[in-house]
Amino acid sequence: MADLTTMLINPKNTIEIIKKYEFIFQKKFGQNFLIDSHVVDKIIRSAALTKEDCVLEIGPGIGSMTQYLAEVAGKVIAVEIDKNLIPILSETLKAYDNVTIIHEDILKVDMHKLACEYNSGKPIKVVANLPYYITTPIIMSLFEGQVPVSSITVMVQKEVADRMQAGPGTKDYGALSLAVQYYAEPEIVANVPPNCFMPRPKVGSAVIRLTRHVTCPVKVENEELLFRIIRASFNQRRKTLVNAVENTAGIGISKEEIKDILIDLGMSVTIRGEALTLEQFAELSNRISLRCKNMI
Ligand code: SAM
Repeated sequence: MADLTTMLINPKNTIEIIKKYEFIFQKKFGQNFLIDSHVVDKIIRSAALTKEDCVLEIGPGIGSMTQYLAEVAGKVIAVEIDKNLIPILSETLKAYDNVTIIHEDILKVDMHKLACEYNSGKPIKVVANLPYYITTPIIMSLFEGQVPVSSITVMVQKEVADRMQAGPGTKDYGALSLAVQYYAEPEIVANVPPNCFMPRPKVGSAVIRLTRHVTCPVKVENEELLFRIIRASFNQRRKTLVNAVENTAGIGISKEEIKDILIDLGMSVTIRGEALTLEQFAELSNRISLRCKNMI
């Protein structure tokens, strides 16, 4: 690793580069730059990077974490939306010939194509201090878009990390927990206070690692139906599962039929969605799917 005093990641060097380019932080882009090297070390270690890895960094900012990524990974692709940061990145990353900077909105990037182009379709690793306003769309498009990715190690709002990792029967458990856990195993690896960023965010943060399942933990006939049932159950959290699912447009199943399925699966007819595991949601969805097929 290069000499730490030449690395950007400290308040002094960050302020220096920001002043030099007269950079103005843009709230709309969720710009809270990391200024604590221990946090970056923790992120890099949790992602278990080697020279074999191709890393996608979403939102490199001024390049503080990108420098670390470039030291340990084989290749780094850094996608940044803010045009004012591009000249800064060209300076701060000029010593690294394994970094490609792409000036683009990550939500408009074909990440599948990117992974294929830069890593011949082999799984990439995503490492980022994410812009919090688009955390869920980014993570879901990585999973739902079938982007070849082995792990996602990201800084997110603490509350969102808790929701991703939550299990049944807890207050944080919901559609996001199930969507994430369907595709990956979540682990919160660090809690990060606001003073590790410039400017300081108003919320607490956490680093979470999502390790993509090699094989899906549940067998599902109709993924779309599974997620429709899950969303219905948590949209109307205080209702019983029977009432929530029966009210869902497009499912077309009566209360009595749902009750029969629940009894058959050994569950109470008054159970709420928040008590069901991913496996139980999958069983329920498969039974509803089977029943719909039999009706055709
Ligand atoms: N990685 C840097 C760090 O840790 O210091 C900056 C992290 S900051 C929380 C989020 C970064 O994402 C900013 O640089 C911001 O401009 C960028 N960003 C915001 N929205 C984006 C988008 N839609 N596509 C790509 N980058 C985006």
